[in-house]
Amino acid sequence: MNEVVTDVLRRVESLREELSALTLRLGNTFGPFGYEAATAQQVHDWFAERRMPARLVPLTEDRASCVARLPGDGTGPSLVFNAHLDTEASGPEYDRLMAIPDPNKVGARIEDGVVYGHVAQNDRACMAAQMIAAAAIHDSGVTLRGDVVVKAVLGETGAAPVDEYEGLSYVGKGTGTEHLIQHGYRPDYAIISETTDFAPCWVQTGAIYAKVTVRGRNMYTPRLVRGDSLPEHPNAIVKLAVVIDAIEEWGIRVQKERTHETACGTMEPKAQVGAVRGGLPWRPNRSAPYAAVYVDIRTVPGEDTEALVDSLRGAIAETGIAADVEVFMEKSGHTADAGALTPVLDALDAAHRVVRGEPMPTTAETAVVSMWRDTNVYNRMGVPALTFGPGRGKASVQGTGGLAMSELLDAAKIYALTMLQVCAGAALDDA
Ligand SMILES: [Zn+2]
Repeated sequence: MNEVVTDVLRRVESLREELSALTLRLGNTFGPFGYEAATAQQVHDWFAERRMPARLVPLTEDRASCVARLPGDGTGPSLVFNAHLDTEASGPEYDRLMAIPDPNKVGARIEDGVVYGHVAQNDRACMAAQMIAAAAIHDSGVTLRGDVVVKAVLGETGAAPVDEYEGLSYVGKGTGTEHLIQHGYRPDYAIISETTDFAPCWVQTGAIYAKVTVRGRNMYTPRLVRGDSLPEHPNAIVKLAVVIDAIEEWGIRVQKERTHETACGTMEPKAQVGAVRGGLPWRPNRSAPYAAVYVDIRTVPGEDTEALVDSLRGAIAETGIAADVEVFMEKSGHTADAGALTPVLDALDAAHRVVRGEPMPTTAETAVVSMWRDTNVYNRMGVPALTFGPGRGKASVQGTGGLAMSELLDAAKIYALTMLQVCAGAALDDA
């Protein structure tokens, strides 16, 4: 193995304790969705402590991303590593309505070499890994041909302004990444640092958020007249119950119809009702004149999403209940041109062979292929991008699974060797 490769691997290995410390530092910074500035500041400070130039890029007073750049001499391709700062919302509404311990307050902990905590798994552990990789490259003093850019971005997780939740505090699903690309950080390639069980994934679903509203009449309980049929019922909540059933059945049907194989694994585009509103909880003596549900619909790259929403309208119309279906967010899914990604795929595979002693897996878990990742933003904007990272447990242990620190260290090594190959022209052939 050539000298620079050995040196960089040794440097990542020597940062093993720092990887744990940084994962805990980022994981235990209180920085919920909409308030990413605190964690962005921690990322910025860490780079500053290591004398690596980094820049905070605010979106609002509470929201910021952070970008660190290791400059190349301009003779080779540039490569971005992109991890997200936000994980979950916080606050009294979260505490009351989600009824689980706030992951932002739970933070991260390491036990027996495994890091626990939803904020670490999504996505601050991978963020720490890409930062450690960049530090090893920086400290090695290797001459870079293309820039290595490491981004910690706000607003990757799903959110969209609706009802009284207005403005930039509620924009998500690629907002921070899009903001950075549009403000100067446009690379030749991008790797989204998120968990994939070491499989590269360059196909992701998009998503539509739709609000479905049902109307009724305000009737005092003793004077309630139910009417002869459900469509005549004065209570929007009662009618909405039937509409929810229809949405659920529709979601199951269109999921089955649109499930298909991709180059990166099975795409199974799901949909679910994620929120409901109607009536006054402390005054249930009135039928609700208004009730609404909020639906998350995953979309297939390139599909006719207007027709998809129309099919939802049709499924609801079959109940005979009048409802408005209003789209309040649409972000498209994308598939990268695998040919354009070849240099990155070859580099990742070579690095995986060196670090983990075998070729990298060729397909990712179905849920990984069937979700949003910021890969979509780059691919939409013409920057070939894929997601790559360690494992964090499957959907059955969502939020409770653990990420082995040994795997995270492997990911940091693979990230570093990929930076070396793509941006410094290093070869691992004789590795
Ligand atoms: Zn994520």
